[in-house]
Amino acid sequence: MYVGTTFIETYLSDCDTRHMASAEAVGGGSLFALAPGKGIFAHREPKGVLHAYVALNKPKAWIDGLDPSDPVTALARIAEEFDGWAPELTALITDAETKPVHRVLHTLPADHRWERIPGVTLLGDAAHLMIPSGEGANLAMLDGAELGRAIAAHPGDVEAALAKYEEDLFPRSAAAAKQAEEMQKVLFGDSAPQSLLDFFATHRPGT
Ligand SMILES: Cc1cc2nc3c(=O)[nH]c(=O)nc-3n(C[C@H](O)[C@H](O)[C@H](O)COP(=O)(O)OP(=O)(O)OC[C@H]3O[C@@H](n4cnc5c(N)ncnc54)[C@H](O)[C@@H]3O)c2cc1C
Repeated sequence: MYVGTTFIETYLSDCDTRHMASAEAVGGGSLFALAPGKGIFAHREPKGVLHAYVALNKPKAWIDGLDPSDPVTALARIAEEFDGWAPELTALITDAETKPVHRVLHTLPADHRWERIPGVTLLGDAAHLMIPSGEGANLAMLDGAELGRAIAAHPGDVEAALAKYEEDLFPRSAAAAKQAEEMQKVLFGDSAPQSLLDFFATHRPGT
C-alpha cells in the first residue's frame, strides 16, 4: 500500500568547493528540515558527497507526473514545493548532479502475518515492509540471525524451527511497524517540526 509519502533521493558531489553553503548547513551529522507534509533530510558521505532525501506527501499520480527523462524540470517542480525555504536547502534539490530517484513508500499492514506454510518462511522487507525509520536493515539482519538460531535449536525439525521463528517474528515486526508509523507523524504531521524537537527532548539517553 502506498503510504502517501515519496522520498526523492539526490546527490551533490565535491560539496566543500561546489556547494559550500549546503555543505555548511548539513554539517558533519544529519540534517532534518521539516514542515507538515514535507521535509529535507541530508547527510554527508565520504569524498565530499551530500546525500539528500526530499520527502513529500503527495498522491502517487503527482509523483508519476514528474518526468524522469527531464530531471531539471522535475527537480524544479519538486523545489517549488519548498518555495521560500533557505537557498542552501533548496540547492540540495536544484543542484542535484544525478537523476533524482523516486522512492515511493509502500508498506504491508503493521500486523501482517500469514498461515504456516511447510518449508517456507519470509524475512526482511518481504515479511514486514514498513515506513523507513532507520530500522529496516537492522530488522532484516536480526530476522536472519533469529532464523538461524531457531534452526540450530531444532535439529532435524525445520517445521518446529520455522514455527518458533514466526512466533517471535510477528510481534517484533508489528511493534517496529507501529513505531515507524508514529515516527512518520513526528516527522511530517501537523506539528512538525516542533514534534521532532519534542521527540528529541523526551528521548535523550537517560530520560
Ligand atoms: C527511502 C528509504 C530509506 C531507508 N533508510 C533506511 C535506513 O536509514 N536504515 C535502515 O535500516 N533501513 C532503511 N530503509 C529500509 C531498508 O532499505 C530495508 O528495510 C532493507 O533494505 C530490507 O532488506 P531486505 O534484504 O529485506 O530487502 P531488499 O534490500 O529490498 O533486498 C531484496 C533484494 O531482492 C532482490 N529481488 C527481488 N525480487 C527478486 C527476484 N524475483 N529474484 C531475485 N532477486 C530479487 C531485489 O532486487 C533486492 O536486491 C530505507 C528504505 C527506504 C525506501
